[in-house]
Amino acid sequence: MSEKNHVVSRRQFVAGASGLLLAGAMADGASRTAQAADPAKLAIEGGEKAVKGAIASAPRWGDVEREHLNAMLQQNSLFYWQGPQTKLLTERFQQFCPLEYVQTCSSGTAALHIAVGAAGVGLGDEVITSPITDIGTVIGILYQQAVPVFADLGAGTCNLDVADVERRITPKTKAIIAVHLTGNPCDLNALKALADRHKLVLIEDCAQAWGAKYHGRPIGTIGHIACFSLQNSKHITCGDGGVVASNDERFGKLLPRFGDKGGDRNRWGGVPVFATNYRMSEPQAAVAAAQLTRLEDIASKRARLGNLLTEKIADIPGIIPHQVHPEDRAVYWFYFFRVRPEAFQCNRSVFTKALMAEGASVSGGYIKVPLYGEPVFQQHGFFAGRWPVKEMGLTNMDFSQHKCPEAEAILESMIRVTINENMSEEYVLGVAEAIRKVARHYAA
Ligand SMILES: *Cc1c(COP(=O)(O)O)cnc(C)c1O
Repeated sequence: MSEKNHVVSRRQFVAGASGLLLAGAMADGASRTAQAADPAKLAIEGGEKAVKGAIASAPRWGDVEREHLNAMLQQNSLFYWQGPQTKLLTERFQQFCPLEYVQTCSSGTAALHIAVGAAGVGLGDEVITSPITDIGTVIGILYQQAVPVFADLGAGTCNLDVADVERRITPKTKAIIAVHLTGNPCDLNALKALADRHKLVLIEDCAQAWGAKYHGRPIGTIGHIACFSLQNSKHITCGDGGVVASNDERFGKLLPRFGDKGGDRNRWGGVPVFATNYRMSEPQAAVAAAQLTRLEDIASKRARLGNLLTEKIADIPGIIPHQVHPEDRAVYWFYFFRVRPEAFQCNRSVFTKALMAEGASVSGGYIKVPLYGEPVFQQHGFFAGRWPVKEMGLTNMDFSQHKCPEAEAILESMIRVTINENMSEEYVLGVAEAIRKVARHYAA
């Protein structure tokens, strides 16, 4: 997405060059000497850019994927059940995330729906989760006729605030979905202890966290059920796809049923649970299995670059860097930092534009509003404009009154920074320098 911003078409280049010629003819060499004398001058005001060069880009697939796809085309069946590509994907998944029960599926949203189904979430149950996430986190909850309850977030992590989760537990609470936002692990020990104390199922939404580690342990192995997405924008992908996995046989044995129309392919007949078709086919599995061979490289590079950025901007007044526990590995699906509004004379939008002018690939915010602020939540209009659970009197939830103050403050003050495995350290140092320069210029 952001790489595009750095590619200048020939036409833009020619237009820009002739503009420069004109400016040069008018201002002569005077402006250039003035710039050299003032490195603090913002690029948006005509100064020199802090970020030199563009983000390098590289193909995301190649020979490994080609080999797997060729092998797949030798097969007589492209169906997942007992399919060699699905088997390979499952084995490779287990090498990095050692969980006994693994079900491949059609998306991260599907993985999460399978997980809440297997967790026994049903009519009127409550599931506590984060309001800053992809809507796929809560789609399954709503389709089970259950109620998503949004808890507030840590100011620097943007992950669940465990104390607030605890405050929102009621007798109806059945599960917690911990979203490892941007690939930064949640406080899993605390969440697991809380879940165990209240007999809740802890589901990890690892869609943005491929390769992340919590206190040295692979992400997805602390909660009861782990969910991953293979959608195109994630660390590794097959276009669309997902994986759901568990070590707990109570839930693990139900994953194939909730992923494959309720039945059991090991036994003939019988549909003991009601579930939909969330299967992933062999062509997707072939690509996903190949992509897993690239994961460690992608995850470790992103971890290093994101941590480097934090190291370089941590001392800038008014900036709250991405907060990662020192024992964890965050894999930066993207990087974000927050600007303290009172520390600057400009608003977030001006700050972001100044950074863009410096050559940094950034954007203001993430999702526009917390999930509960979306019209479909505000109007409780999930099923043809209605919400059966509420009409039946099984919930008092009123999303128009829901409040998560820190989450709202985060969305208003965060600036996203692109991080990917192709970036050089120099580029990241340039971004850090840009943030320092813009922060100093606008300091209150
Ligand atoms: C992408 C994403 C999902 C949904 O995954 P899909 O494959 O797009 O359905 C769920 N949760 C989070 C945190 C995500 O980033």
